[in-house]
Amino acid sequence: MTNRDACAARDAADPLAPLRAAFEMPEGCVYLDGNSLGPLPRATPARVAQVVRREWGEGLIGSWNAAGWMAAPFALGDAVAQLVGAGPGEVLVADSTSVNLHKLLGALLGLAPPERRVILSERGNFPTDLYVADGIAAQRGGRLELCAAADISARLGPEVAVLMLTHVDYRTGAMHDMAALTAAAHAAGALVLWDLAHSAGAVPVDLRAAGADAAVGCGYKFLNGGPGAPAFLWLHPRHHAAARPGIQGWLGHARPFDFAEAYEPAPGIARFLSGTPSPLAMAALAEGLRIFAEAEPLGGMAAIRAKSLALTGLFMELVEARCAGHGLRLVTPADPARRGSQVCLARDEGAYAIVQALIARGVIGDFRAPDILRFGITPLHTRFVDVWDAVEALRAVLEGGEWREERFARRGLVT
Ligand SMILES: *Cc1c(COP(=O)(O)O)cnc(C)c1O
Repeated sequence: MTNRDACAARDAADPLAPLRAAFEMPEGCVYLDGNSLGPLPRATPARVAQVVRREWGEGLIGSWNAAGWMAAPFALGDAVAQLVGAGPGEVLVADSTSVNLHKLLGALLGLAPPERRVILSERGNFPTDLYVADGIAAQRGGRLELCAAADISARLGPEVAVLMLTHVDYRTGAMHDMAALTAAAHAAGALVLWDLAHSAGAVPVDLRAAGADAAVGCGYKFLNGGPGAPAFLWLHPRHHAAARPGIQGWLGHARPFDFAEAYEPAPGIARFLSGTPSPLAMAALAEGLRIFAEAEPLGGMAAIRAKSLALTGLFMELVEARCAGHGLRLVTPADPARRGSQVCLARDEGAYAIVQALIARGVIGDFRAPDILRFGITPLHTRFVDVWDAVEALRAVLEGGEWREERFARRGLVT
């Protein structure tokens, strides 16, 4: 059995520990929600202020060239590429994950033979993925089909154009075998799109090694780009020449400043740029990504993954030892090979109120309907003592029953 001192000793020996200082972290806060909104990097306010005052205020419109505003979607894309196993010039940072899904699914349906019109996905996938897929499949004379994770291989029939999966499940933290499922889809003649919202910056991803076709991911979660940060998209270069983006915008044109009437796609991934990027948002994301560059000499993604598994493993072990008999069920896979970077617990009664009671004690996790308590583990700033303190707070909330107080049952707009 471990204790708080043993956790503090593990923090003292942690090679990634110095990176926590790169973030603003309110006093007394155990932040286990970096998978929903990454915390503020200390360097971000000054960087954004500089973009506002100097680049915008003084540089005016010339900053599109002089300050690299127009190049930012590609420069940041190259930084993201290093975290997901893509090559330089293959990743674009733009828009939201939802919009990027639409752009890529449109392209993949265009690449698939006309008799293949089905987008296959997993039941319980993130709603925006399902809504976007349903919409674009219907527009293209096809449909979205859903099945259980265990049935995916069996359902990859001759009508399936695209297999669309989220690599790490937002609700359970279960991680798919990207290489195996990609190979199964290709063997059945389908293309594969991976949503990396809960993977990029959290678990090692190798899109090229898996032979995947396309991917999207989020900028405001593990990448710490700030609320509403631009998302990213990747398309394997073997598809670039033939791909028609689901949104054909002027900045994805071969020569946007010719203002030609006819659309002619830019070469490469640039054709997936739809409209004008936000330099303010790009600057904030650049600072979030810079911390991953700082993690490189400390062990990079391998060290991040090792610490993530140690933290999630500790969390699960402590819940079992210290919260037994309180009706919690572990939802996240115990097998490290199948686990993302979160721990999810289910409880028949009071999951929402328990999360609210924890937040009142300074332990910030989140609730995911219908019955899940979700705790995100972000190795750039989460400490072993944070895990200890979180589980102790959970134990206190359950033992004292404070979650039954009426104030913890009220729901805000965002849960
Ligand atoms: C967070 C998340 C999104 C978010 O999409 P937005 O367009 O950025 O709101 C999409 N897919 C998954 C799997 C997510 O977890």
